[in-house]
Amino acid sequence: MKIHEYQGKEILRQFGVPTPRGNACFSVDEAVATAQQLGGSTWVVKAQIHAGGRGKGGGVKVAKSIEEVRNAAQQILGMHLVTHQTGKEGQVVHRLLIEEGAQIAKEFYLGMVIDRSKQRVALLASSEGGMEIEQVAARSPEKIHTVRIDPVAGLNAEDSARAAQVIGIPASATSDAVAVLQGLYRAFVEKDAMLAEINPLVLTADGRVLALDAKFNFDSNALYRHPEIIAMRDLDEEDPAEVEASKFDLSYISLDGDIGCLVNGAGLAMATMDIIKLYGGSPANFLDVGGGADKEKVTEAFKLMLRNPNLKAILVNIFGGIMKCDVIAEGVVAAARDVHLGVPLVVRLEGTNVERGKKILAESGLPIISGNDMADAAQKAVAAAKGSR
Ligand code: GDP
Ligand code: MN
Repeated sequence: MKIHEYQGKEILRQFGVPTPRGNACFSVDEAVATAQQLGGSTWVVKAQIHAGGRGKGGGVKVAKSIEEVRNAAQQILGMHLVTHQTGKEGQVVHRLLIEEGAQIAKEFYLGMVIDRSKQRVALLASSEGGMEIEQVAARSPEKIHTVRIDPVAGLNAEDSARAAQVIGIPASATSDAVAVLQGLYRAFVEKDAMLAEINPLVLTADGRVLALDAKFNFDSNALYRHPEIIAMRDLDEEDPAEVEASKFDLSYISLDGDIGCLVNGAGLAMATMDIIKLYGGSPANFLDVGGGADKEKVTEAFKLMLRNPNLKAILVNIFGGIMKCDVIAEGVVAAARDVHLGVPLVVRLEGTNVERGKKILAESGLPIISGNDMADAAQKAVAAAKGSR
């Protein structure tokens, strides 16, 4: 689960990481009032969306007067901010962060991720702040200093100080940088993060270190023990179909193809998408209804797929193991009657009670195309999608 920069900075502050003073704002007037309250002569107006690259996309503006704050807030609020992480349509900006401006002497990169192969949290630090770390990794990997942190000992002062020194933080700011690194690590572990990033961490003209940006991604499997993080969820930033799916405990991911897939089991769901591709089609979604899908869940799954205006056909691919084929067939028939289908439906069933399942489909009177096996069903779905184009 992702959160906004201003929320990330709240967390950083709780762990002793210094950030500029600032507040989230939802309107232009609020932005102006916040800037006035903060005082000073330079402010930064920052779009809050769950995507990076806002600066380049025009979502971060430095203002030298209250009038400039107003103009920037007017421009950014409501804009479709397009960055390399948003896709072509961009993301509509509903919130701003208004901060006091910082005098930047130098920018650095700090990131933490889980290195699964080493079973450790890895700290990545670089002198190349403000840049995309993927580009630094591709062009000059030697500029990334990595520390794999012992989970028992934690991030010690020696390793932190060395990291600070290697990336070029001056000796006078080393102890502050150590506090930042250790605070970031504690936040990462205590909040069950999967990714934490400060890009840039800056050295200010007067020699302080400050986190100018904050990005967190939390492990959704650990959210049950973090109500304070769940409270930070912003549904405006999530795909509405995926939000709806999570209410029914369906694993659903929107994709850009036109063949809806309803499958039980994540592995079979991936194999189904592969075989659709193999026969020249393109999946509209990943959807795993899980092992215990009942009629209600299958109906919701159909409704989710049918929300997609690009949908041209649906392929149901079920292996009845724990789940029985006749139960699934009843669910499919009931769901198909419940919703207006409007696109061809191909069903492939295999496993327990498969004959009973096929009979239910055949006797339903619905125009269901039956697939004999996965390859046959996939070819029929691809052909159906092309036919209804
Ligand atoms: P991102 O593009 O989404 O990663 O957004 P950032 O929060 O990293 O902002 C992009 C860039 O804006 C930073 O790398 C800084 O160079 C610049 N920036 C952000 N805050 C300030 C500030 O207070 N003062 C100045 N001068 N520049 C800032
Ligand atoms: Mn950034």
